[in-house]
Amino acid sequence: MARVLVVEDNERLAGLIADGLAAQGHVCDAVSTLAAATDALRDAPFDGIVLDLGLPDGDGIDWLRARRAPRPPILVLTARDALEDRIRGLDAGADDYLPKPFAMSELAARLRALLRRPGTRQDAQLTLGNVTFDPASQRVAIGGITLDLTRREAALIELLLRRADQVVRRAVIESCLYTFDEAVTPNAVEANVSRLRRKLEEAGAALELHTIRGVGYMARARGA
Ligand code: CA
Repeated sequence: MARVLVVEDNERLAGLIADGLAAQGHVCDAVSTLAAATDALRDAPFDGIVLDLGLPDGDGIDWLRARRAPRPPILVLTARDALEDRIRGLDAGADDYLPKPFAMSELAARLRALLRRPGTRQDAQLTLGNVTFDPASQRVAIGGITLDLTRREAALIELLLRRADQVVRRAVIESCLYTFDEAVTPNAVEANVSRLRRKLEEAGAALELHTIRGVGYMARARGA
């Protein structure tokens, strides 16, 4: 699972993209202005951005140019398919470019390729104790046996393994597991952690998910 920010002012298209990416197992937030995109990036970690260029409060290329590294990979999406616009976008630091109209399957495939690039959050396998997580397949395995996890449980363990031995605040977990629009019940994160903890225990994981009361959660290798 990746968390993707869709910046597109055509509401219908934004909805189609968000639904299409959600069907691929991604968590999507859609915003319609550059200002909202800037806010979203400040408020939550994103793995990738799908960016329209013609937006009500400015040109996506200027916004793109102003983003400092490290930033998530950006797929530029635009009706402007003229060669010079394409070059301008790539010069400004776009990671890929897709002219409209496009097939949803092509957008999904290009985004997958961007998320897999070396140096992105998505590339390397994570290991803690006898537990391994493969970001590309979203599979968790213990001693070679794959665990049966829901999409949210897989996202949760990914987040905790990426910050092993550190407390991950509940608010950060919420922002990674749920889009801004989803209503999150107060104990939703706790319920997810409990289910994940039980599945890990049953599978013999040499890993513990500690609850840090009032703060968040932390994954540690057992006995560490
Ligand atoms: Ca537009």
